[in-house]
Amino acid sequence: MTLKFAKDTRAVRKFGGYRSFIEKVADIYDNVDERPDWEAPQGDIEALVNHSNWLVRCPNPDCSEVTMVDQGELYWCPNCGSADNDFAPRTVIFPSHIKTITTLLAKRPRQNRNWEPGETLAQLKRENKERGL
Ligand SMILES: [Zn+2]
Repeated sequence: MTLKFAKDTRAVRKFGGYRSFIEKVADIYDNVDERPDWEAPQGDIEALVNHSNWLVRCPNPDCSEVTMVDQGELYWCPNCGSADNDFAPRTVIFPSHIKTITTLLAKRPRQNRNWEPGETLAQLKRENKERGL
């Protein structure tokens, strides 16, 4: 897998899956008592790629947590408990052109595999071309 999802990490496998991993991280941080109700998501948030990893940046202005995410899984911040979202998990939105984005980023060195929501395929292609990729 060129771009890494949370499920591709040793930590998520070790803790028995994404949701138990996120709750374990929240236990370790010990910043909030709330835990997510995975059956009651509210709102959504866009995923991005940074250094080859699919991530969500916590939108809470009082938090700077960055969390790896999976397709078909919800996002909940283990640092602030998604306090800005009534402590509820959010649906993660992945780009519709995920296969092409993956193919374009695969040509780059790992640290240059970055994509932000709104960045077009044409932009990625141009950046690759400028670098001779
Ligand atoms: Zn947060």
